Amino acid sequence: MRKKLIAGNWKMNGDKASNASLLADVLQGLEASVACEIAVCVPSVYIDQVGRMVDATPIRLGAQDVSAQDKGAYTGEISAPMLKDMSVRYAIVGHSERRQYHGETDALVGEKAKAALASGVTPIVCVGETLDQREAGETEAVVKRQLAAAIHAVGHCVSEIVVAYEPVWAIGTGKTATPEQAQAVHAVLRAQLAAATEHAEKVQILYGGSMNAGNAAELLAQADIDGGLIGGASLKAPDFLSIVRAAVVASA
Ligand code: PEP
Repeated sequence: MRKKLIAGNWKMNGDKASNASLLADVLQGLEASVACEIAVCVPSVYIDQVGRMVDATPIRLGAQDVSAQDKGAYTGEISAPMLKDMSVRYAIVGHSERRQYHGETDALVGEKAKAALASGVTPIVCVGETLDQREAGETEAVVKRQLAAAIHAVGHCVSEIVVAYEPVWAIGTGKTATPEQAQAVHAVLRAQLAAATEHAEKVQILYGGSMNAGNAAELLAQADIDGGLIGGASLKAPDFLSIVRAAVVASA
């Protein structure tokens, strides 16, 4: 059975003092052995700080992006070998904010996923439709196109990725996909993975988009929802811990 994964996406938030107190509160609230996987994807300048704090704890370290290149003249970029060197376990790729504000294409997102895997960093590949696309009945086509690019790029390693379905209209808006809406898309993604690998049942497909302490349990109870990518609620220890607890209950 797939373990649930609850991954916080801190986005461009935090400072040394608030990171330390948030993590201390989360660590204090965790059971000694947690029956789900937990990660925090932090701004790259804080990878070292957070890495030290989560070392030998149940929390895994994540980055919010990774370069498609290994090294060289790419000012400002951070490579997968560098992330690996800092014991980073996960890298989000293709977050809708990267697609929207940095013009990231499906092909580039696929290359980033491939680069991450080549260094032993697990890519969390984000897919999701805008409100216009949903209203035009294009949800399935959009997420399948986005996932197809990642599948194409990573080839036979497809069972090693994590996928996150994040409807753009639900991110940071307080609007959440209903459990049924989310499950329907997750089932489409699972079927697409199954056409690409005989190990599709292994792949964790997370839901992201205003998941919070109040709605997590219902979402996480769905057959193909294997966890959450959590933005705003990951910045508040009690909320993040409630989502982790919902994941534990859903795993029981
Ligand atoms: C995200 O940015 O990945 C996200 C899901 O944000 P929020 O939970 O704030 O909607």
